[in-house]
Amino acid sequence: MVDHLANTEVNAQRIAAVESCFGASGQPLALPGRVLLGEGVLTKECRKKHKPRVFFLFNDILVYGSIVLSKRKYRGQRIVPLEEVTLEPLPETLQARNRWLIRTARKSFVVSAASAAERQEWMGHIEECARRRLLATGRPRATEHAAPWVPDKATDICMRCTQTRFSALTRRHHCRQCGFVVCAGCSRARFLLPRLSPKPLRVCSLCYRDLAAQERREEAEGQHPGQGSPAAQPDGPAGAACAASSGDYDSDDDDSDEEREGGGDADWPGRVQFYAEGVSWSAFHS
Ligand SMILES: [Zn+2]
Ligand SMILES: [Zn+2]
Repeated sequence: MVDHLANTEVNAQRIAAVESCFGASGQPLALPGRVLLGEGVLTKECRKKHKPRVFFLFNDILVYGSIVLSKRKYRGQRIVPLEEVTLEPLPETLQARNRWLIRTARKSFVVSAASAAERQEWMGHIEECARRRLLATGRPRATEHAAPWVPDKATDICMRCTQTRFSALTRRHHCRQCGFVVCAGCSRARFLLPRLSPKPLRVCSLCYRDLAAQERREEAEGQHPGQGSPAAQPDGPAGAACAASSGDYDSDDDDSDEEREGGGDADWPGRVQFYAEGVSWSAFHS
């Protein structure tokens, strides 16, 4: 069925409104054939806190950002291609309900909806869009995903050595491979993870051993030559230099805007809005 929203004025207006809310900080979003299917606020479990984030589901991408002023100003735009996305429902916890994991090649994170019905709606729509994108592009579903980061407050001690206790002076770091919270001593090594970054990234001692062993195996078998080279030995001079020069890398992540934000919570908008209401969802896809 031809997507009846693709070339409509109302769709163009909705997309223009999203672009205007992100302003110059966002990417142009209007594209021939692109349809905005729904939008709403989800709670994203960030490194330090749970934060409201506005999400926009298009037929080919998922866009999200932080809320400066509801329906007026957003920033920190992130764009996730839907063919990369895999979802996984999560069990309830005391702190959060209606949660699920959004897994992508470059980044994985946990969000939660205001109700079980909303979670079902979001997950159903995202999965349906992703399925159709995969069909349309003929690509296989991605099997490798970034590990979600364990939240800072989940542990007071290093999850590798279990000796180092974190404090204001002893910083937490995250292994880019397993997502564990580890101390500096247990994450001296850097490894090239081409899926995540063109630069070698911080990995924990255990992941370093596994990655290096895997690389040796692949080299022996003649696979993937040149990929995933170790950037530094954990205890070598190169490793020490690397650790020193990129000591602040951890602050340069998705949640670096956390401290600068404020006031957004008071502007919590109403429930999620899917433009499929009253129309069968399949009518929105070509
Ligand atoms: Zn440690
Ligand atoms: Zn690790």
